Amino acid sequence: MRALQLTEPGTLEIREVPTPEPGPGELLIRVGASGICHSDLHVLHLPFKVREDPLTLGHEIAGTIAAVGDQVAGRTTGERGVVYLCWSCGHCPECASGNENVCRAAGRVAMPPCPGLGPDGGMAEYVAVPANSFVPIGDMDFVAAAPLADAALTSYHAIRGARDQLYPGATAVVIGAGGLGHVGIQILRAITPVRVIAVDTDPDKLELAAECGAHEGLAADADTAARILAMTGGRGAEAVFDFVGVDATAKLSVESVGPNGAYRMIGLGEGDPGITAGPAGGPGLPWGATVRKSYGGTKRDLIDSIALAREGRIAARTRQFPLEDGAHAYELLEQGRIRGRAVLVP
Ligand code: NAD
Ligand code: ZN
Ligand code: ZN
Repeated sequence: MRALQLTEPGTLEIREVPTPEPGPGELLIRVGASGICHSDLHVLHLPFKVREDPLTLGHEIAGTIAAVGDQVAGRTTGERGVVYLCWSCGHCPECASGNENVCRAAGRVAMPPCPGLGPDGGMAEYVAVPANSFVPIGDMDFVAAAPLADAALTSYHAIRGARDQLYPGATAVVIGAGGLGHVGIQILRAITPVRVIAVDTDPDKLELAAECGAHEGLAADADTAARILAMTGGRGAEAVFDFVGVDATAKLSVESVGPNGAYRMIGLGEGDPGITAGPAGGPGLPWGATVRKSYGGTKRDLIDSIALAREGRIAARTRQFPLEDGAHAYELLEQGRIRGRAVLVP
């Protein structure tokens, strides 16, 4: 089969590789679509090999069950679904309590194995996955469904974790209206009553944010924090979701979140929010504000995201590319030229 693989740091190639066999407890998925996440760009630019042999990318996978491995109950060929990206152990206390994204088997700072970031992912004709990662989508289109597996899941998890601050009259700031952020705005509008302020460096993404239901759009510059404060009576926003995570946006988050507010880090740009312990005053973190470094989501978050999409209440804007054009699609993402989510179709 054909697969888009990371062969050397920074190098993507379409290669012929053996079609995987589903092992015990696994399913073989015939890939219908596989979304392109900005996290792959972070991986692409690591100066070292993530894995000794070439790695098939792709952690936003939608497809059909093509074969069922031994010791799998309750799944049959032909079922359509998406792949839950936390391949967690399934039986530790965190998994048992529905916090699979922080599975104990991953240790303190790692993440559970994720397709395309350790094991082979979905940018191929087929992928083998643990049977319990398969979540049905009914008759949803694969291109529409693939971004639910991360762009929706991760946004939904961050928003659900800040629900206490998302009350009527509250303001939420969404920094970065890209693949994740444009879905995050729709989730905020679908499940909360808050006013949404989108922030982006790119006017086109602010236009997309407005299409997705953002009430206000602000260019990201030196005055953004002051403008958010002016729009919130000097208090700051009840919640700030940073889908970029570079120094400038981390600083903006600290300077625009309000007292008791929720600052959620989702973007992985290595940004330093510069939070210090000290009395309040000045531009620092206000009293009561919380910071959470949010990873992925739980299986429940994925099920909820699929339900929202099936009800027509959220829809990722997608741009489809054939698998062969994957490297080009990554280039466009890197240049900021993807509106919504790029999705590869094998
Ligand atoms: P994307 O490239 O589709 O979107 C990024 C958006 O941010 C674009 O609209 C861009 O114009 C905007 N932007 C860039 N710099 C900005 C700045 N300084 N100020 C304001 N806006 C700016 O990326 P994506 O796929 O949505 O991923 C976003 C980030 O989230 C990445 O860092 C990715 O690695 C990370 N991510 C984290 C998790 C997690 O579990 N925490 C999961 C998936 C992705
Ligand atoms: Zn991702
Ligand atoms: Zn576990």
